[in-house]
Amino acid sequence: MDTLNRFLFDNHSIRGEITRLEQTYQAVLDNHTYPVAVQNLLGELLVVTSLLTATLKFEGDIAVQLQGDGALSLAVVNGNDQQQLRGVARVNGEIADDATLKDMVGNGYIVITITPKNGERYQGIVGLEKDTLIGCIENYFMQSEQLPTRLFVKTGVHNNKPMAAGILLQILPANDDTAESFEHLSALTETITADELLQLSTDEILYRLYNQEQVRLFETHDITFKCGCSRQRCEDSLMTLPANEIDEILSEDGGNIDIHCDYCGKHYLFDSIDIAEIRNRHKVNYH
Ligand SMILES: [Zn+2]
Repeated sequence: MDTLNRFLFDNHSIRGEITRLEQTYQAVLDNHTYPVAVQNLLGELLVVTSLLTATLKFEGDIAVQLQGDGALSLAVVNGNDQQQLRGVARVNGEIADDATLKDMVGNGYIVITITPKNGERYQGIVGLEKDTLIGCIENYFMQSEQLPTRLFVKTGVHNNKPMAAGILLQILPANDDTAESFEHLSALTETITADELLQLSTDEILYRLYNQEQVRLFETHDITFKCGCSRQRCEDSLMTLPANEIDEILSEDGGNIDIHCDYCGKHYLFDSIDIAEIRNRHKVNYH
């Protein structure tokens, strides 16, 4: 099962989170044939988004989106406070197995959008100033929250299954004398290998890293793949199109509008009878 746990160090003003993904990662890769480097990046994005949503103190969604002028024009992962994740990438062109972030994205940036259920949407834009996604996200934390934050993320294949996992360490706000502890704990965390992070249990990982420390581990949250697409959402977006455009598609495409969800691979079909019915319903709503 894919899981997220928060933890605290009793003797330091530092908190942590650990996320481990297998089925969710697989579900994002299903129905797509992404280059290896893009698969790894999506794994990192999933872990990062899970860790980011776990830092939210309210109900809401986070989208972490990479965009640029490279062969990877878009990669996006959406997550929410329920730890439901989905993601997709758009690739136009060749991407080598060992491509770096910049090789893939080209000139680009990362957009982090936080949408609370109640309240204002917040959007942060981070340049690709570091060589890795993780470095860029650490920058984001420094800029947006002024909280020193380290992320340790690994992706790989174990028992023929893609796996991704990560640890977040963050200094608790309003504590000045923790820099040394933070460096010490970061140095310890840095020693985790990909095999350990991907294969050991959460308890084993925390023991392996912090057996000299007093760690308080909180309840486990399950992480699941969930796509927010629905027939209703397709209807809503269809109704934003000019009527003659819809009629044109209906007459061209054998009488059907086929809306395909890039995230989960679902198809939503609308024929002319469906469209007439939807239009009728919208008329009723508006008069
Ligand atoms: Zn979907």
